[in-house]
Amino acid sequence: MRVAVIGAGIAGLTCAWELQKAGIPVQVFERDSSVGGRMNTRTKDGLAFDVGANFLIGAYRGVNALAAETGVSLRNASPVTHVVYRGGRPCPMNFSSVRDIFRMDGLNLRSRFRFLAFLIKVRRAHTGLDFFELGLSPDALNQEDAYTFARREVGHEFADYVLDSFNSCMMFSRSSETSVAAFLSLFGMMANAAFDFSVVYADGDMRAIPEALADRLVVHRRCAVEALAAHEGGWRVDTPGSSRVFDRVVVAATPKAALGMLDGGPRPHRRLLEQTRSASTINVSFRIPRKTLGHTHCFYVPYVESPVISEFTNEALKGEHATRGGMSLVNVGLHEEAAVELMNEEDGKIFEVVKTELLTINAELRAVADQVRAHDLERWPEAIPKYDCGQIARVKEFLRDGQGQQGLYLCGDYLNGPWIEGASRSGQKAARQVVRDLAQLPGN
Ligand SMILES: Cc1cc2nc3c(=O)[nH]c(=O)nc-3n(C[C@H](O)[C@H](O)[C@H](O)COP(=O)(O)OP(=O)(O)OC[C@H]3O[C@@H](n4cnc5c(N)ncnc54)[C@H](O)[C@@H]3O)c2cc1C
Repeated sequence: MRVAVIGAGIAGLTCAWELQKAGIPVQVFERDSSVGGRMNTRTKDGLAFDVGANFLIGAYRGVNALAAETGVSLRNASPVTHVVYRGGRPCPMNFSSVRDIFRMDGLNLRSRFRFLAFLIKVRRAHTGLDFFELGLSPDALNQEDAYTFARREVGHEFADYVLDSFNSCMMFSRSSETSVAAFLSLFGMMANAAFDFSVVYADGDMRAIPEALADRLVVHRRCAVEALAAHEGGWRVDTPGSSRVFDRVVVAATPKAALGMLDGGPRPHRRLLEQTRSASTINVSFRIPRKTLGHTHCFYVPYVESPVISEFTNEALKGEHATRGGMSLVNVGLHEEAAVELMNEEDGKIFEVVKTELLTINAELRAVADQVRAHDLERWPEAIPKYDCGQIARVKEFLRDGQGQQGLYLCGDYLNGPWIEGASRSGQKAARQVVRDLAQLPGN
């Protein structure tokens, strides 16, 4: 039996790795010259830049296990602090601890107590929710958006400065486009003292784990799949200049890319891919004097403070290799609205708009304005799926009735598995299903 995995992001690589460990021959096809997809690092002028995902967290048990299996060392980025802007002022607040959200000085006392009461309620009523497996959430939580819910339950201060700020930073879209299930899963886990939200870096940066996995697999790089067509009970995989036939195919590309390669294909797959919506962003980095941002790791900028920048992170905290000649990088993420507006502009124009806004927001950077220089940028039209109410239900239905139909499987973060941990778990689950399906074939 021959299996192809299309896409060498963390979902595809995890899937291929699990299949290989189960003794199934597998080949991975990757469009780009590097692996990792949205979990990737680029080096320019001696400074490394994580072009998509920026950090891991302690609670990523699947990803942590992959790192251990492939010999990639992880380290806690401590001590770090986070701030949220309120009225132009940075207010210390660590999302790593519910206690710190409670103490955030940008929230008034009433908001803080409403938040506390809300968390107690969530812990009592919704144990067992898992942010990285949103499909586990009950349907009743998939019928309202997180912003409306949070405003009603905790108040507008919390909704604007904590929830919406966090959502825009981590999902790039507004919390009105995320389901209550996603919101409660995340904050419910954070309310659990055992949940480790500490920032973790990989030695070798974000590309390290994907590269380590790819070293152990057969990966065809720069080999974009142009078309996938059903062929004598299997699938023909067309890449430039060659066609190969496989018995089973796992598509681990983003939804639009996956749809683009499917020539026909099962209806449930097409329907899910057509209906999945993703938020866009642009990731922009600037060289800055290394010490400018101190020990603050992430600066959250709520939409009500700036409709352009959703967050910026201090790359100097990644270690000495992230510094050169006394300079390091600040890595800026954009709110979806601004990203969509700027997506087709020239790089120079994007740097200019983002720099102007960045200096308006942050006083430390303003003080060294003449040393803030454009470094690099990456456009992400499909940055993160929107885990809206409809999506969670559609994915549940697909995984129940469509996954594996005609020997075709999908995996990736849009299958109710947010972030790197969710994407990796989705790859693991797809691999398990392939193994199960193959074991049921006559003769096995
Ligand atoms: C700017 C940004 C910041 C983020 N920050 C974080 C963070 O700090 N922490 C975190 O946990 N998550 C973060 N995320 C989310 C995280 O990166 C993703 O959820 C995760 O990497 C998705 O993995 P994936 O394998 O599902 O998809 P992808 O990584 O997108 O992988 C899909 C792969 O398919 C390949 N492909 C596409 N078309 C074809 C084709 N035709 N033929 C062959 N290959 C093809 C692509 O090149 C790519 O390698 C961030 C995302 C972005 C965009």
